[in-house]
Amino acid sequence: MAIEPSTTFQIDAQSGEARAGVLTTRRGQIETPVFMPVGTAGTVKGIRFETLESELDAKIILGNTYHLWLRPGIDVIRAAGGLHRFISWDRALLTDSGGFQVWSLGALRKITEEGTEFRSHVDGSLRFLSPEVSMEVQAALGSDIVMVFDECAPGQASHEETERSLNLTARWAKRSREAFDRLQNEAAETGRVAAAGLSGAQAIFGIVQGAGHLDLRRNSLEQTVNIGFDGYAIGGLSVGEEKSVMFEVIDDIAPRMPQDAPRYLMGVGTPEDLVEAVARGVDMFDCVLPTRNGRTGQAFTSRGKLNIKNAQFINDQRPLDESCGCAVCRRHSRAYLRHLYISGEMLASILLTHHNLAFFLDTMRGVRQSIRSGDFPKFRREFTERLNANGE
Ligand SMILES: [Zn+2]
Repeated sequence: MAIEPSTTFQIDAQSGEARAGVLTTRRGQIETPVFMPVGTAGTVKGIRFETLESELDAKIILGNTYHLWLRPGIDVIRAAGGLHRFISWDRALLTDSGGFQVWSLGALRKITEEGTEFRSHVDGSLRFLSPEVSMEVQAALGSDIVMVFDECAPGQASHEETERSLNLTARWAKRSREAFDRLQNEAAETGRVAAAGLSGAQAIFGIVQGAGHLDLRRNSLEQTVNIGFDGYAIGGLSVGEEKSVMFEVIDDIAPRMPQDAPRYLMGVGTPEDLVEAVARGVDMFDCVLPTRNGRTGQAFTSRGKLNIKNAQFINDQRPLDESCGCAVCRRHSRAYLRHLYISGEMLASILLTHHNLAFFLDTMRGVRQSIRSGDFPKFRREFTERLNANGE
């Protein structure tokens, strides 16, 4: 007995290439374009789940297969009844495949046709990750959207090297799809899905690779679409290539991606990158910038980035962003936040992370509203002008 994926995608409004729609997962509806906060090790660093739900209203977050597989390990997560129950998060979760993390380990790994062998950064043990292992781990995590196991070529990889890599990614995508389907059917037959009160199977997204080579990107897209997935991601960008290369790839590839499926740009980017990628037809994003930079004293604002460490904020009584309505901007001054940061108080990271996530999520809310009301070109122009005006 095969079960149907419970993920559907509907586009409600368009403005040029920009799309506003609704992605329905087995754990609720998500309005797109959407930003997904990154919850690497089962936590979106520096922020409580209550806040993510109520104040920030994040509808979907990311979990990292690589990190969770190594620690606490899938036995612990299985025993808890899946990642949702383990971390107490009822909304949608997307898990990456672990491919990117293993790739970014560099010298610590060995790639073969079968998969990737590497040393765990946790205990130095030798581990092996393959399409089949990744699918099994993601099934155990119980995420709502699963990513195929891929290989990422470096941003400056040669044509030949990139072609070899994307063909391997295509073969791994096919193996991922087969292992995924087998696991979904097993889950349906054993009644695990129904028992969890879920409406259906996990969804699976394919990943388009090809570095900065447009012909290879198109080739990779064709191979990925031929296998067939619930959504399609552009991977391997923001990995050291020039920003112009990134937009050249998005310009060329996004409009060629299936119209009726969500398009996900992996690991990108700044608020302006998000708005610009939406204008080129992208629907989903994730990035560690709001949380990571929050911990290093950097705030994203409607008037550009602000480094709270700077002495210019010592007596600055204004909020981080005067046009932000988040709880931090309503309550605290730059002077206070700077004091916390300079004093090494953990609250500095918590408050900056909160504001940064609010700013990313609010930006996407504005993007969605403007696409629906037909004002996206105006929104995009004003957003960019304000950022570049930098009124510090
Ligand atoms: Zn704020």
